[in-house]
Amino acid sequence: PFEVLVIGGGPAGAAAAIYTARKGIRTGVVAERFGGQVMDTMGIENFISVPYTEGPKLAAALENHVQEYAVDVMNLQRAERLIPAERPGGWHEVVLANGASLKARTVILSTGARWRNMNVPGEAEYKAKGVAYCPHCDGPLFKGKRVAVIGGGNSGVEAAIDLAGIVAHVTLIEFDASLRADAVLQAKLRSLPNVTVIVSALTTEVLGDGARVTGLTWEDRASGKIHKVELEGIFVQIGLVPNTEWLKGAVALSPRGEIEIDQRGETSIPGVFAAGDATTVPYKQIVIALGAGATAALSAFDTLIRLPAE
Ligand code: FAD
Repeated sequence: PFEVLVIGGGPAGAAAAIYTARKGIRTGVVAERFGGQVMDTMGIENFISVPYTEGPKLAAALENHVQEYAVDVMNLQRAERLIPAERPGGWHEVVLANGASLKARTVILSTGARWRNMNVPGEAEYKAKGVAYCPHCDGPLFKGKRVAVIGGGNSGVEAAIDLAGIVAHVTLIEFDASLRADAVLQAKLRSLPNVTVIVSALTTEVLGDGARVTGLTWEDRASGKIHKVELEGIFVQIGLVPNTEWLKGAVALSPRGEIEIDQRGETSIPGVFAAGDATTVPYKQIVIALGAGATAALSAFDTLIRLPAE
């Protein structure tokens, strides 16, 4: 049994495990894939104090740092069920896909999230070669170039406004007949001279020259006509989905499926904490996930030192 069981091995889970292990408390980490989304990232330029690194390199550094401590890392294991303790201070149980069941006095949920893909030809092929998902991360790479933003919800419109200040031109493509973003954002967007908004449009293909994105095609949903846009970058903003399906009914989730946490990172269940992209934390970034992991770990420690000895 563990004093702290961390579910997820991305930045949030790694930070949490290091913080609790440094308190000398028995820590386990269950991770489907250690490194998380960082493993899918090419250049990282906003990991403060490191001007440039690459995802796999940072993921390896996270893992090495965790391995400096006596942390029991169970990699390539998926958690399938959380059975909360029946009474405060009791044992929580986490059931893995391989059938094993782990018990812990506190649990830190850090299962992250995944960007929803368009699932069109060329998207996967040109990922990180022009197809991007995070404007805060990759926006500056497209300075002075032409980009499209796919999705007219709040995140798509925010991304378009953000990018319009960096790139030469933004084409925003929305599937529905109108944008779904807040009216103030839409007004701001329409005031920008270098943004074109296209609605009722289905993106059908990402075009490239083998090395980089060169454009996209979209279908006018009213006429069925296919149009082509030449550009260098495509930001897909059709949703960030938290990896919390397995927690439904166990902890309180927001309408978007994010784990609800308080300022200390505690969930609706005493002794169960959460951190990173899987939670309601505003803004999903590596440095934010790291900090949230530390917060959840220190909160778990605070809980543990108040529990009666077993
Ligand atoms: P994740 O990194 O998503 O890690 C989740 C962990 O949980 C993984 O180990 C996963 O395998 C595991 N897991 C999930 N479900 C289960 C389960 N049921 N059981 C066990 N384990 C499970 N941010 C930046 O700050 N700068 C960037 O440049 C940047 N670029 C990005 C580029 C791309 C392509 C992507 C996708 C994201 C980028 N981000 C960037 C965002 C950043 O990667 C995330 O904010 C950060 O990784 C979140 O950390 P996390 O620990 O909360 O979750």
